[in-house]
Amino acid sequence: MHELGITENILSIALEQAQQRGAQRILKIRLKIGEMTAVVDECIRFYFEILSKDTMAAGAEIEVENVPIKVKCPKCGKTREASDYNFICPQCGVLSAEIVSGRELYVSSIEIE
Ligand SMILES: [Zn+2]
Repeated sequence: MHELGITENILSIALEQAQQRGAQRILKIRLKIGEMTAVVDECIRFYFEILSKDTMAAGAEIEVENVPIKVKCPKCGKTREASDYNFICPQCGVLSAEIVSGRELYVSSIEIE
C-alpha cells in the first residue's frame, strides 16, 4: 500500500478538522485501519512524523485501531472473522464473497487543545 499518500490524507483531514474547531495543537489522532488494507501502522507513524513537522499536528500521537476482516456467508448468513484470508465458510464450503469489515481506513477522531 501507499502509506505516504495515506498519511498525507490523514494529516490534511486532521488539520482541517482542527482548524474548523479553532485548535492550537493536535494531541492525538485516532485511526481505524482494516486488516485488508495491509497498511502498516509503523509506516504511517514514520511518515506522519516527517509530514507533520511545522504543523499544529507535530508530535501528535497516532492511535490505531485495527479492524479485523469479517466476511458473510451467502448460504448460512453467518458473519465470521477471516483474518487468515480463508473466505470459505467452514460449515457450507462456499465462498463468503461479501466483506463486512476490514477495508476501513479513516480518521475516527482527533484530540485537540
Ligand atoms: Zn455458511
